[in-house]
Amino acid sequence: MFTPEEFKGKKALVIGAGKSGIACANLLYANGFQVLLTDSKKAGELKDRLKSLSRKVKAETGGHSKAVFSCGFAVKSPGLAHSSPLIVALKKKGIPVFSEIETALAFSRAGRFLAVTGTNGKTTTTILLGEIMNAALRPAARALVCGNVGVPAAEVAAKARAGDAVVMEASSYQLEDSSRLKPDAACVLNITPDHLDHHGGMAAYVKAKANIFRYQAPSGCCVFNYEDARCRRLAKRCPSQVLFFSSKRRGARLSAWTEDGSLKFRSGVKTVKIEPPALPGAHNLENAMCAGLMALHQGVKPAVIGKVFSAFKGVEHRIEPAGKIKGVSFINDSKATNVDSTVVALKALGEKRNIWLILGGQDKGNPYEPLTPLIRKSVKAVVTIGAAAAKIERELAGTAPLITAATMENACREILQLASPGDIALFSPACASFDQFRDFEDRGRSFKALVKELR
Ligand code: ADP
Repeated sequence: MFTPEEFKGKKALVIGAGKSGIACANLLYANGFQVLLTDSKKAGELKDRLKSLSRKVKAETGGHSKAVFSCGFAVKSPGLAHSSPLIVALKKKGIPVFSEIETALAFSRAGRFLAVTGTNGKTTTTILLGEIMNAALRPAARALVCGNVGVPAAEVAAKARAGDAVVMEASSYQLEDSSRLKPDAACVLNITPDHLDHHGGMAAYVKAKANIFRYQAPSGCCVFNYEDARCRRLAKRCPSQVLFFSSKRRGARLSAWTEDGSLKFRSGVKTVKIEPPALPGAHNLENAMCAGLMALHQGVKPAVIGKVFSAFKGVEHRIEPAGKIKGVSFINDSKATNVDSTVVALKALGEKRNIWLILGGQDKGNPYEPLTPLIRKSVKAVVTIGAAAAKIERELAGTAPLITAATMENACREILQLASPGDIALFSPACASFDQFRDFEDRGRSFKALVKELR
């Protein structure tokens, strides 16, 4: 475990000049460490990022020098594999390597630490939990939301005061590197195969996720999805209080479940009913149950949770209403960068056969075939865009009419010509965005701007 006292006077190595690496280098420097930041990318590529690096931090780019071995400890970028030559060499020399989140937490004085992981739903649950904790703690204290949500832990954790709560989204990459996290409340929303290349297989991926609860105190809690067999197995190894939720059944084992559209929570000896956020899909009920259970464990009153739920509008780019044109509802689900996410969106919105589904972007090498039954059930036509269009059309041939549109703009114009009032134009591309956009956020913003323009 990283403790600043143990490494006092030693030089720190920060590997990777990403947003979290830069924040971590600045944090270590501000706390009295001499810091070397190293990145294999060329200075030109990192120019913009390095602007936020403290001038007193030495940065080497375009590769790693011998100086890395003069450091007393290292903090690694989550994207870098453990098998990479630099990490292997550091470990061989006995130089300990820590994660950015673990390092950041060592400087935090926050009274509570809440951590969210899972394959899908992390950001939504983290943001929702952050809003609940803020509603419960303000004005005396606050919740600081960080991690994989896009705000590095190193940027905010050190700002926390004793009454505050750090609410963190922890990805499997970040957890893999973290040996001693001790959240007061944690969760594993679900586990499906993802990022297996990086972790080197399913077992290693699950092991990384388990780091969220491995060192929890018995007084802590960890929330698991009862409908996910991997979660259930994992819960057996959890040292803290296990809380299960289910969106499919009721039962004595569960701490949260759904009943006639409402959420039920077991809180102490009582059962309380809370209305969920007005968001589509069973997956959002799961995210709400998870955030609700973590908050109840932290002593938050059900009424506070209910109030936040009723005001919660969801997170940008996740089944987000983008406007109506001639009675056709346009939905921005740009965060659907894989087939699983598009399946979730079709399940959430596909009650009637009224969806015009825009698919495409950069192919990720996975089959589109899992979409077939849902397309048959709910989709009027599939409109393809981007580099993956031909592959998608090949694999989905015969499921619904296919329209080749090449660009998002053509796709929206085609749909407007053909759709009827009451239809849904769902932009849930099931692909990465990098063929035509900077990232999924850029892609989602472009979609929303386009809908506005067409209106
Ligand atoms: P993450 O941060 O884990 O990627 P997000 O909250 O950003 O999760 O949601 C990303 C996508 O994952 C959503 O658009 C939706 O398709 C899907 N999703 C969200 N919550 C869940 C859930 N509880 N179970 C399954 N899929 C979900």
